[in-house]
Amino acid sequence: MKDPIPFPPGDWPALEPGWVWLCGAGPGDPGLLTLHALNALRQADVVVFDALVSEDILRWAPKARHIYAGKRGGKPSAKQRDISLRLVELARAGKRVLRLKGGDPFVFGRGGEEAQTLVQNGVPVRIIPGISAGIGGLAYAGIPVTHRDVNQSVTFITGHDQSGQTPSSLNWKAIAEGSQVLVIYMGMKHAARISAALLDAGRPADEPCAVVCAATTPEQKVLETTLGRMAADIAASGLEPPALLCVGRSVLMRQVLDWQGMMAGGAPRDLDPLARGRPAEAC
Ligand code: SAH
Repeated sequence: MKDPIPFPPGDWPALEPGWVWLCGAGPGDPGLLTLHALNALRQADVVVFDALVSEDILRWAPKARHIYAGKRGGKPSAKQRDISLRLVELARAGKRVLRLKGGDPFVFGRGGEEAQTLVQNGVPVRIIPGISAGIGGLAYAGIPVTHRDVNQSVTFITGHDQSGQTPSSLNWKAIAEGSQVLVIYMGMKHAARISAALLDAGRPADEPCAVVCAATTPEQKVLETTLGRMAADIAASGLEPPALLCVGRSVLMRQVLDWQGMMAGGAPRDLDPLARGRPAEAC
């Protein structure tokens, strides 16, 4: 029979019965899957997927049972343990289990907890990293998460904690002072509180910000704004999660690197948005 899904030859690992592979699916565009993820999809009996995994990706596992285990928007994490125990149950039933999560499973994805529960229950696991939305999603918006002229560090932040609130454990003053570029996951709901905290801590109101929604999908939308205007602009735009907030001057690079806009026929808005006054790579 002709293999319906072409796959590069190689010594790919076998997903054995009784194992759970915890795998990142990337931010949305199926092309951002890893080959290990595709190898897993081809072998799984069961794919347990969460809310941010696109349907297109599940098509790569046509023979597997697809089980939705999504949780949206800061709801209490009571169900998390049920999901993990379901995985244990499936593994014990001798299934080849693929647990598929948006982005990277270990970046704000509770992958650490799930994997720990599996190991505690004697279930063998493999971890397959994925492209996290905070990196790949920004790249699709034309925003380099680091740039030598802007930042020597980047901070990934969650905009809400397990109770759905802005995390009280975050030291916004230290964050504001310590990192030139901030990438905030799950920040839409509390955008007003987050921007107020950063402004209070001394970040300038005219600092460039971007809101990148549904990054890497056909519905991707990018709002360019400033820290001072961000919350009001989000409210006025009607934009919805999932979205990333990016605070920092790297957002300016979108004026030259909005490659999707250029693919659609747009011209770069500014070839030197950081005003370096010299060629991009002159030292
Ligand atoms: N493990 C995931 C993050 C899960 S938390 C990862 O590594 O990307 C869920 C949050 O991720 C969303 O609220 C949003 O802030 C962000 N996110 C995930 N996919 C996204 C996408 N396609 N576009 C914008 N934000 C996304």
